[in-house]
Amino acid sequence: MEISRAAFDAIVAHAREAAPRECCGLLIGLGAQIESAHRARNVDPSSTRFLIDPHDHFAAIRAARAGGREVVGVYHSHPSISARPSATDLTEASDAECAYVIVSLAVDPPEVRLFRLEAGAFVEEPLSRL
Ligand SMILES: [Zn+2]
Repeated sequence: MEISRAAFDAIVAHAREAAPRECCGLLIGLGAQIESAHRARNVDPSSTRFLIDPHDHFAAIRAARAGGREVVGVYHSHPSISARPSATDLTEASDAECAYVIVSLAVDPPEVRLFRLEAGAFVEEPLSRL
């Protein structure tokens, strides 16, 4: 997939604001294009998992559709570990259509990687920055 500069910068900025907690949100675009990021509340107060507020999720779907776009994925941050899915991420992931983007602040500059769920495991896919 490809991610716009605006979406990439928005995800990194959100991750930095939320640290040391994890941030989360929805990715909006079309097909293989991620055009923008829609912030969501993380309704889990811990710093090691995320749970997207369902109201924010539906708001993102409505906003995307209104602009002729769709929700193509979700993103969340790892404030202090690498941008690889954690065991918790795998346990809670269920949508094979969804791109899972993780931003890690453990390295500088921050690392942003894309995974997709296939047969019960996360498989990394290339993510190009525009
Ligand atoms: Zn995670």
